Formats: sequence, structure tokens, C-alpha cells
Amino acid sequence: MATQTRESYRKKEEEEQPSKKWSLQDFEIGKPLGKGKFGRVYLAREKKSKYIIALKVIFKEQIEKYHLHNQLQREMEIQSSLRHPNVLRLFGWFHDEERIFLILEYAHRGELYGELRKFGHLPEKQAATYIASLTQALAYCHEKHVIHRDIKPENLLLDFEGRLKIADFGWSVQSRSKRLTMCGTLDYLAPEMVENKAHDYAVDNWTLGVLCYEFLYGVAPFEAENQTNTFRRILKVDLSFPATPRVSAEAKNLISRLLVKDSTKRLSLQKIMEHPWIVKNANPTGICID
Ligand code: AMP
Repeated sequence: MATQTRESYRKKEEEEQPSKKWSLQDFEIGKPLGKGKFGRVYLAREKKSKYIIALKVIFKEQIEKYHLHNQLQREMEIQSSLRHPNVLRLFGWFHDEERIFLILEYAHRGELYGELRKFGHLPEKQAATYIASLTQALAYCHEKHVIHRDIKPENLLLDFEGRLKIADFGWSVQSRSKRLTMCGTLDYLAPEMVENKAHDYAVDNWTLGVLCYEFLYGVAPFEAENQTNTFRRILKVDLSFPATPRVSAEAKNLISRLLVKDSTKRLSLQKIMEHPWIVKNANPTGICID
């Protein structure tokens, strides 16, 4: 990694964490929790406080290879500045010669994606609780002028009480373009993003509609055999509701009012929270224990 980049990490670290300089010696490392695009995540415990955290290890070589240091810095800055019960905390970071370590809040139940795959689809109360939690987290982020743009089940984690946590800030641009070329999924993209048009906060509202559908039906609404057809279906808003599983008319109403091509006509975050399906089904504490 270029000296300048190393230097900028060091400076950033000093600016953001004047009180504590963390190092690997401060932690006991436990089992691996998962593997991401740029490294691994481990369960870890801070030796003094015994506080359990997740330690994300990112290889500088990878960051350099994909020219991502600015983006990583942005992610760290954004995520460490956010304080919301449904946004995964980034407590701090440090680095050695080869690696960058992110000290993250531990999400005991892991990816929401796992839950969705295990059960096929979610009960309405659980889905509504997740959508309400996401809506509140996004309202908070939007207030702070942060658009996530890459919300999908893999980026949503669950804590030990089943409370939803948005993770992976700032990766949106990179991970999206990677997904276009490597995994080929466009499933969560709003039409204006598919068309490469200017977009704003309303892209997150569209994604809430896609997720709500996926939580309830177990598949994304515009899924197709290939990218081109997903692309077509998103642009046409080719939305249909299968007969099974049985989903309430109120849930379908909410989905239809979010998956609207004209971004100015999508239901606002405020209105989502007031929607009868959310009011009736969401647990206001955000806790989902099954
Ligand atoms: P990522 O590199 O962020 O994609 O993370 C890779 C995997 O590690 C994820 O798919 C999760 O299963 C797991 N993971 C990441 N962050 C955490 C966390 N804070 N708590 C628990 N598991 C995590």
C-alpha cells in the first residue's frame, strides 16, 4: 500500500480516536464468524472489559488492488458516527503492516439472510417488525444525509434478541458494481439506479418494498433467469403476488406503494410507519424472538 495511504489511515485513526489506540494485543480472538469480500470476521473479546465484539480483518493488499481506501475511510467515518439501535456500531479501528481491523458490535444471530433461507419466508409480524426497524434506521440515516443504497438481506444482521442491525456502510458503490459483474443480481436496485440516472433518498424506500416482498414470499419480486430480464422487470415494475404463501392485502398494499417507478410518488418513511400493516403487526421494541 502506498505510504501516503498508510499515512492517511494513521492520521484518520488519530483524529477519530484520540483517547484510545487499539492493537491486536487488546483482544482475545475467538471463532471465525464469516468471510467477506475483503477478509474475515472473528468473534473477539476485549481483554480488560471482557466486552464481546466482532473483529473484521481487511487485507490492505485487497483494498489497494481495488482502489478502495477512500471508500473504506468513508465507510469507517460514516458508520462510527451513527448511533441508532438498528445500525451496527463501529467502535473503532486500528491497523498493522498488512491488515486493517474494524471493532464492530457483535450481531449474535448473524445474517438475516440465513433466517430467510432457513424458514423460506417470514411470518407477517416478524417481517413488519424488520421493515419498521429498517424504516426507523433509514430515517435516522437520511436525517444525517446518509443514503445506504445497498440494503439487502446479506447486509442485515440480527443481535441476540433478533433486533435488526444495518451493517456495511459505504460499500454500496463498490459492492453493487461487483454484484453486477460477478453475481449478476440487480434484485434490490431501484429503476433510477438501473438506468444510471440521478437518484436520491427514495432509492432506499424502493429497496424497502423489495425487502418486504422478499421477507413475505421468500423470493425477490423481480427475480429472473438473467440480468437482462431482471432489468426489464424492474423498469416495467412487473409486480405480481403469488397465491401462496398467503399474504394479507395490507402487506401487498404497502409493497405496491413502495415499488413505484416515479421516485417522488413512493411512500415516505414517515408514512410507512403510519401504514396500517406496520401499525398492526410491528413490534415497537424491534425485538423478534421466535
Ligand atoms: P462481511 O465481510 O461484512 O460481509 O462479513 C462476512 C460475514 O461475517 C457476514 O456474512 C456475517 O455472517 C459475519 N459477520 C460480519 N459482521 C458481523 C458482526 N458484527 N457480528 C456477527 N457476524 C458478523
